[in-house]
Amino acid sequence: MALIVQKYGGTSVGSPERIKNVAKRVARAHAQGHQLVVVVSAMSGETNRLVALAKEVQAKPDPRELDVVISTGEQVTIGLLSMALQEIGIKARSYTGPQVRILTDNSYTKARILKIDEEPIRRDLDDGCVVVVAGFQGVDDAGNITTLGRGGSDTTGVALAAALSADECQIYTDVDGVYTTDPRIVPEARKLDTITFEEMLEMASLGSKVLQIRSVEFAGKYKVRLRVLSSFKEECEGTLITFEEDIKMEQPIISGIAFSRDEAKVTIQGVPDRPGIAYQILGPVAEANIDVDMIIQNVGQDGSTDFSFTVPRAEYDRTLSILEGVKTHVKAREVHGDRAMAKVSVVGVGMRSHVGIASRMFRTLAEEGINIQMISTSEIKISVVVDEKYLELAVRVLHKAFELDHQPS
Ligand code: ASP
Ligand code: MG
Repeated sequence: MALIVQKYGGTSVGSPERIKNVAKRVARAHAQGHQLVVVVSAMSGETNRLVALAKEVQAKPDPRELDVVISTGEQVTIGLLSMALQEIGIKARSYTGPQVRILTDNSYTKARILKIDEEPIRRDLDDGCVVVVAGFQGVDDAGNITTLGRGGSDTTGVALAAALSADECQIYTDVDGVYTTDPRIVPEARKLDTITFEEMLEMASLGSKVLQIRSVEFAGKYKVRLRVLSSFKEECEGTLITFEEDIKMEQPIISGIAFSRDEAKVTIQGVPDRPGIAYQILGPVAEANIDVDMIIQNVGQDGSTDFSFTVPRAEYDRTLSILEGVKTHVKAREVHGDRAMAKVSVVGVGMRSHVGIASRMFRTLAEEGINIQMISTSEIKISVVVDEKYLELAVRVLHKAFELDHQPS
């Protein structure tokens, strides 16, 4: 008998029929003798609808009240799923985040889980009950309702698995696992049987949206055995997220190609080259809460320097206007940028023990005439920034160059 936390996403519970299907799936695991905690998201589209509703009433919704509104989607699905389970003869009880007492900090709309009171859940489990918990929500120590950020039900699932020392946390979604890259761009993309946490973290932070990144961090930190599976395909093992030290076989050098379209590049040119200049440029950007990603500084001969960095595309205009201010202040020559950039990354723990990955990547892109504008590397990934119009081509040729369409032998 195992204790399993299952999490079902919005599409999996998108209609009464689908909720009944989830109930059947839960029932099957229950019949195998497992103890089950089931976390559900709101029905698909519901959270978006609630956000829009709030904005119709208050253009900039008050964060506390916004959480009160958007946390309701999950409350509907937990009740419905418990009913569906009862209808097929399974004891089930639902709980909201505050009822379980998923204690969070008080940063509304992006709260972090601090503590979970597992006692009431254990009691129900020992009683033969399936426990159904609302994802995405918690409560702060003053009793205010909080939410965990979009996609936060994944984190609820993993946090519950950690608190209960569950044998496995299974995330059911509309894809059947983690792929070598997005199959919509590369039809030959393969589902991976396993991927390491570090790779998964890179893939998630680089734009592969299978799991909320915070849930992956959580699982890594608390060593939760995490599996991504399809809620629609029955006999598929999905992708298991593993710990590097558990890998016995030879790893493929590259596990996947991640990308993000959401990039913009800004450049401030002819900046006097002196200590403190990076701070004078990036300080105001950080103060405006804009996430800076890749940074490049070139030193010219005339004692001046050019400084480029990338920001999320949605922050492009705001960044440019901040830089205009900086330009006057530090007496730089010019500010310009490009809002249509993309980032493509090859990810793999095998890079640690293999050389030549970067040159293979650069050669592949060069052969297609794709200009690399920025490069950054870590131990297990190499990222390049390219013009967005080359994104799909870059992903396709790299997928091929690293032989990701072949099953590793
Ligand atoms: N319903 C929330 C959202 O759409 C949480 C989740 O689905 O994970 O972001
Ligand atoms: Mg999700």
